Amino acid sequence: MKRIILTVLVSVLPIVSGCFRAEENKTRKGGEMKYEVNKSEEEWKKQLTPEEFRILREKGTERAFTGALYDNHDKGTYVCAACGEPLFSSETKYESGSGWPSFYQPLKKESIDREEDRSYGMNRTEILCAKCGGHLGHVFTDGPKPTGLRYCINSASLKFKKED
Ligand SMILES: [Zn+2]
Repeated sequence: MKRIILTVLVSVLPIVSGCFRAEENKTRKGGEMKYEVNKSEEEWKKQLTPEEFRILREKGTERAFTGALYDNHDKGTYVCAACGEPLFSSETKYESGSGWPSFYQPLKKESIDREEDRSYGMNRTEILCAKCGGHLGHVFTDGPKPTGLRYCINSASLKFKKED
């Protein structure tokens, strides 16, 4: 009898814990409780331009070489266009030739959220603002030293604060 119970437990446990994990992911992805800045779609629409809304809230991408900041070489800080959180410094911006602002590291690791993105048949890592959940772009592993990373960001997801 003991043996049977044990067998049942062993076979059921992984399934149960698997379910819990899936549930946890769902809650995280739902975004309701996750972000410090939570606004309804209507509120974001009022605050953002249509282009910013499409990119930040609907995970869109601006066309390469069309954004306001890919060719910006001034010294300063790049903040989230939706919530103002400082995300990148001009110190880590570099010419990737991609047509999008590219950085090899964020100001703070905690200010960037990562999600697996399997859309368009590609396997990419999406990056989001950790404060408001706004879509920023993707991170790739073909960046320069010292990190080897390329944070490829939409200009529309950023606002630039020039250093005085
Ligand atoms: Zn934000």
